[in-house]
Amino acid sequence: MQPIKKSSKLNHVCYDIRGPVLDRARQMEEDGHRIIKLNIGNPASFGFEAPDEILQDVIQNLSAASGYCDSKGLFAARKAIMHYTQEKNIANVRMDDIYVGNGVSELIMLATQALLENDDEVLVPSPDYPLWTAAVSLAGGIARHYICDEQSDWLPDPENIKAKVNSRTRAIVIINPNNPTGALYPDDLLRDIIEIARQNNLIIFADEIYDKILYDSARHTSIASLANDVPFVTFNGLSKNYRAAGFRSGWAVVSGDKTRARDYIAGLNMLASMRLCANVPAQFGIQTALGGYQSIHDLTMPTGRLKRQRDLAWKLLTDIPGVTCVKPQSALYLFPRLDPAYYPITDDEQFALDLLLEEKVLIVQGTGFNWSQPDHFRIVFLPNSDDLTEAIGRIAQFLGRYRAR
Ligand code: PLP
Repeated sequence: MQPIKKSSKLNHVCYDIRGPVLDRARQMEEDGHRIIKLNIGNPASFGFEAPDEILQDVIQNLSAASGYCDSKGLFAARKAIMHYTQEKNIANVRMDDIYVGNGVSELIMLATQALLENDDEVLVPSPDYPLWTAAVSLAGGIARHYICDEQSDWLPDPENIKAKVNSRTRAIVIINPNNPTGALYPDDLLRDIIEIARQNNLIIFADEIYDKILYDSARHTSIASLANDVPFVTFNGLSKNYRAAGFRSGWAVVSGDKTRARDYIAGLNMLASMRLCANVPAQFGIQTALGGYQSIHDLTMPTGRLKRQRDLAWKLLTDIPGVTCVKPQSALYLFPRLDPAYYPITDDEQFALDLLLEEKVLIVQGTGFNWSQPDHFRIVFLPNSDDLTEAIGRIAQFLGRYRAR
């Protein structure tokens, strides 16, 4: 009998955040080991609960939520998203420009599937949130990585982006605030990126899912607020700002030059209707989330839990010899560098696996974020201070042994 093989469309698709090291961690847990998990940005599993008012809204509306809704989402949810785009100074957004999806993840897939012909190119940051590279590949495209520069606090260099544009380039992805680096992009850089899109007829995909998780009085600008003559799709959702990742509720907003993007928008509409609609119960939480008490600020303010944990994790990590890390201004992650002079790592997946086996700490290797060198890893600073201290202490012990090898 012939083996049943996976589609060759998956040959270049890679998503290591939930890859082989995680499978091994699961096995170890089944065998009774306690693993400290620093691998996934899932706030609810670390005691960061979704605001109660959102839960109450969803519960109260549950009986009205058993049917399909409009493919683009519930009226009230989209009205609230429209209001949010207005607060973020994104001009000229109408109800029809808003798509509610089963998380930003689903909408990233829709947005790339609707755009790309085989071998079309998309400019994607390195490091990136790897779903972007994976979604481009699955849609038949090629992710052309532009470099975010650690020496410049992980900001990309517009010259480097420009140098990667060619006749097959269709779009630029920016992840701002950034996962995995925590970088927050200044307006001048956003304007430079817009100029590249303007000159090369590109659409800008802006993943802004962490736009409220900001530290040290940082401010976020939506790139789509800075121009009307370039097409934008801006992504956001409930998973991070409202700690409701399990609801699977996100949205995409088309703005800017919609006339030029008319055909693309028809493609998006087709794909949105093919999946009928997004999970309806969770959509009832969107209006309350966006219009209600913004409890994320309590977590990111100077005495807030997230801010304290960011500072603690950053200090503990950078106290380890040979470990440096740009302090994140936003989001939930640290992306430290391991100096190759101290830690001559050649295979960082093996490094992550060895750390798991020896110290029972789960991290994600830097190459899992399409970073080309095996010299970085990502941790989330969501676990409480005691767990973070224990986990980073174990990482330090492991690295001490690694150096002595
Ligand atoms: N975009 C970024 C940058 C992320 O970090 C994540 C999840 O970690 C997502 C999108 C996926 O979000 P959602 O839960 O809305 O699918």
